[in-house]
Amino acid sequence: KSGFVTIVGRPNVGKSTFMNRVIGEKIAIMSDKPQTTRNKIQGVMTDKESQIVFIDTPGIHKPKHKLGDYMVNVAENTLNEVDAILFMINAEEGYGRGDQFIIDRLQRVNQPVYLIINKIDRVHPDQLLPLIEQYKEKLDFEEIIPISALEGNNVNHLLDVLKGHL
Ligand code: GDP
Ligand code: MG
Repeated sequence: KSGFVTIVGRPNVGKSTFMNRVIGEKIAIMSDKPQTTRNKIQGVMTDKESQIVFIDTPGIHKPKHKLGDYMVNVAENTLNEVDAILFMINAEEGYGRGDQFIIDRLQRVNQPVYLIINKIDRVHPDQLLPLIEQYKEKLDFEEIIPISALEGNNVNHLLDVLKGHL
């Protein structure tokens, strides 16, 4: 089984931390430099039965400067070409404008979108339900999966779900 997955989300929600955990330091190709290429392969996760290519989607993150039509199209094309989209949020933060920018684009794709609630090590479990209710109103998520990318909680479950979808 193999497929392409992209991770989108506001800055600092933990996308790179997640990548490091699933790809492993040795193979991870990560950079904070501005990206000019269309799709950037960030890493490939391989195990006995599957291979998942994680790609970045430049342009989907809310830019500081005006985003040209070209980049918007590029980002949306990428979203339509992957097998699954992980929309990552920070469990400590509520819904915000940065999320709205991304959700506006996710509403136009047909690919399955998984809501990944990261940093659950930082919140009381009771805080998750209201957060989930808030986001569920905005988009029809394939599944909602809470994780801690830093500590590893539930990350294997997320990978199993993705493999099941490929
Ligand atoms: P990105 O901008 O989305 O790539 O976010 P990063 O991966 O760079 O993470 C931003 C900050 O959040 C870093 O200080 C990480 O150590 C921290 N972080 C990421 N995931 C977790 C998590 O699951 N729990 C906690 N407590 N901190 C996290
Ligand atoms: Mg990052």
